[in-house]
Amino acid sequence: MKSSAQVVVIGGGVVGASVLYHLTELGWTDVVLVERKELTAGSTWHAAGGMHTLNGDPNVAKLQQYTVGLYREIEQRSGQDCGIHMSGGLTLAGDRERMDWLRMAQARGRYLGMEMEIISAAEAKRMFPLLEEQYFIGALFDRAEGHVDPSGVTRAYAACARQAGAEIYQHTWVSDLRQRPDGTWDVITDAGEIHAEHIVNAGGLWAREVGRMIGLELPVLAMEHMYLITEDMPEVAEYNAATGHYLPMGMDFDGELYIRQEGGAMLLGTYEQACVPWSPRQTPWTFDQQLLTPDLDRIAPSLEIAFKHYPALASVGIKKVINGPFTFAPDGNPLVGPVPGVRNCWVACAVMAGFSQGGGVGLTLARWMVDGDPGEDIWAMDVARFGDWASLAYTNAKVRENYSRRFRITFPNEELPAGRPLHTTPVYDRLTAHNAVWGASFGLEHPLWFQRPGEEPREDVTFRRSNAFPVVAEECVTVRERVGLTECSNFAKYRVSGAGSADWLQRLFTNRLPRAGRINLTAALDRGGHIVGEFSVARAGRDDFFLFGSQIAEAHHSRWFLGHLADGVRFDVLGLSLVGLSLAGPGARDVLQSVTGASLATEDYPFMTFRRIDVGMIPAYVGRMTYTGDLGYEIWVAPEYQRALFDLLWQAGRPYGIGLFGFRALMSLRMEKMFGTWAREYRPVYTPVEARMHRSLKLDHDFIGRAAVEAELARGPARTLGYFDITPDPAEPADVVGDEPIWHGGAVVGWVTSGAYAHYSRRSLAFGYVPSELAVPGAMFEVEIIGQRRPARLLPEPVLDPAGRRMRI
Ligand SMILES: Cc1cc2nc3c(=O)[nH]c(=O)nc-3n(C[C@H](O)[C@H](O)[C@H](O)COP(=O)(O)OP(=O)(O)OC[C@H]3O[C@@H](n4cnc5c(N)ncnc54)[C@H](O)[C@@H]3O)c2cc1C
Repeated sequence: MKSSAQVVVIGGGVVGASVLYHLTELGWTDVVLVERKELTAGSTWHAAGGMHTLNGDPNVAKLQQYTVGLYREIEQRSGQDCGIHMSGGLTLAGDRERMDWLRMAQARGRYLGMEMEIISAAEAKRMFPLLEEQYFIGALFDRAEGHVDPSGVTRAYAACARQAGAEIYQHTWVSDLRQRPDGTWDVITDAGEIHAEHIVNAGGLWAREVGRMIGLELPVLAMEHMYLITEDMPEVAEYNAATGHYLPMGMDFDGELYIRQEGGAMLLGTYEQACVPWSPRQTPWTFDQQLLTPDLDRIAPSLEIAFKHYPALASVGIKKVINGPFTFAPDGNPLVGPVPGVRNCWVACAVMAGFSQGGGVGLTLARWMVDGDPGEDIWAMDVARFGDWASLAYTNAKVRENYSRRFRITFPNEELPAGRPLHTTPVYDRLTAHNAVWGASFGLEHPLWFQRPGEEPREDVTFRRSNAFPVVAEECVTVRERVGLTECSNFAKYRVSGAGSADWLQRLFTNRLPRAGRINLTAALDRGGHIVGEFSVARAGRDDFFLFGSQIAEAHHSRWFLGHLADGVRFDVLGLSLVGLSLAGPGARDVLQSVTGASLATEDYPFMTFRRIDVGMIPAYVGRMTYTGDLGYEIWVAPEYQRALFDLLWQAGRPYGIGLFGFRALMSLRMEKMFGTWAREYRPVYTPVEARMHRSLKLDHDFIGRAAVEAELARGPARTLGYFDITPDPAEPADVVGDEPIWHGGAVVGWVTSGAYAHYSRRSLAFGYVPSELAVPGAMFEVEIIGQRRPARLLPEPVLDPAGRRMRI
């Protein structure tokens, strides 16, 4: 065994093998993989090997597409049979909502170049004669689906990596990990120690235990999962003889099951409601290529449906039942990337669909390690999308919820209940008393909208407009015509202080730093000129800054800041030690002025001022800005003051007709002001030139990514963020939710990033990227919303107050 290596990958399942392979592909060949038993000994060996490209997140779908396309290549290069059967796959819908979901999935697939077809139930029956047509109304057919041999694939990755110089040590258990002061690692195994620059935790069923070796509690949990294999079926043999190929795979939403051909038989797996976590606290190291005891009673409801939907199954014997564990993160997507706060430590775990996703996970992690950038938009898989709040118990609640909803639709306006409420701010009870409908983000409850008194605070889930629509419209009117109050604690807040802070931030930010007492907007870029963050920067003193950014990216962004930290600079994540309320609307100044001695007249407190003042008896930092685009203030206080602040503003606002508004109204208001948002318009795959962030780009100072920006400005961006006015279907109006394809001249030319109905302006609006040469004001496009191509006109400026006067009055 080597005593040192550039990288030690811990775990020889399909994921670890893929990481090893991709590292060698990118030229890192001093890499080793350590496996406690044999390759595949964790969850990999007993997998059903099914693979598909369909995923609710288009970026994950793209990586799945890459994975599926990789198998022929590694099979050829390694000489290892991967058992590839590209049978195609049917996702079967039994009702209108599911059909809508499939249409939306098909539409998203278009701009990724995925060719999926919507077909009728009769066509589905023709392709898959075992199904009973009456239970379905249609299906999505995807050619790029099938199944592989799990062990063959893992060995093929491993063989290719070995050919390139990687070494694999089987029957070698990593028992401890110790970091040296220089950030390198001593990997302690039962066969000796390896000194490594980087470690990768691809421990699969033991990823949590490997994390604990360095004091990490990764949000990952294994669930029991069952599939059964029937005796050989004459129907299958007949189909194969008649067509010369395998039956396609089937995903059946109603039965919460998947079904595919296995030899001359059928394999049927379920995601049962009565799901059971496996080893919820500690995975035993003694577990080795074992299976769990099957429990057919648990999956009986799914089997009953299966026997109805596929009657031939009811009369055939069951040859084998497999029950095995595999791992999930709370939202079902993998955990990939550098572990926040730990140098040279990477994870690639919680991969619940190793044969759909393993290749993409390996590729992006290897790129991240080698190039410092994953090269794709992997936000949905970033390990930093969870914070410390994703504890063992939270993970348990969320994973069970996710597992049991595997084949359920999560609507764009749906908020799932498990693990909530977790973080609440002091005004939670006050807002609940005002009939708040709550959402949760990054563990924190935040008000979405306020139901009318006497009505149940609940939102209908739908792809179209919900019962919130008229109420949110009223909230928007309150803000635009009187004054609205909302909670704004759901920002990430950071404080940067200490000598050298200003110089440090200036090198990170594209905009010039504001003067003391002022705020401005800025972007932060990577070396390639992509947007890694978008922040409001408030300067409290020479070397004292508050940064406000996207809350969901709190761990993601703080990892980035800390990774660039300069000596002497202090970077603090403020979390809920600073909470906020925001007043917005033409009456906002009058309300706030009535409770503070500081003059708020524009000449004394102009737009984008940030100052420490007293509001009533409460010490507060007050920024004169809001995301509504109206006159407004964000008032930041320590949590112990927030209730008093709420009561004070609420009372003071009564004469001015104050009303509460929530996140839904905020999203509507920001759309009519053409304000983009992090994780939608601004993501690490876009540049500030494409995103038209020109006001935050000042080329008078040096910053990370500047050279790339200058080069792009010189040649012009290939694509541009457009702002669209959409004409919805008058019969059944629906607004965009994001990821819809944008058509022009009969072809898909771009995609929507986000949008909303702008209630005050009465327009359905969207943002989306299109080729720059097409981004001409007034140009007509079509946006595909739930299977319908709706006209969309590209607008040159915000539909409301393009000169920005309302914010400045
Ligand atoms: C019944 C069943 C059916 C499935 N069907 C499908 C399917 O059809 N399609 C699909 O895509 N996925 C399927 N899966 C899921 C699939 O199995 C997983 O996504 C995949 O196996 C994850 O691979 P992994 O490499 O992350 O983890 P694992 O396979 O668990 O590999 C982790 C490896 O790390 C090793 N290890 C851990 N800790 C250490 C240590 N300290 N030292 C050394 N080695 C260590 C372990 O021994 C293990 O071999 C199924 C799973 C089950 C249970």
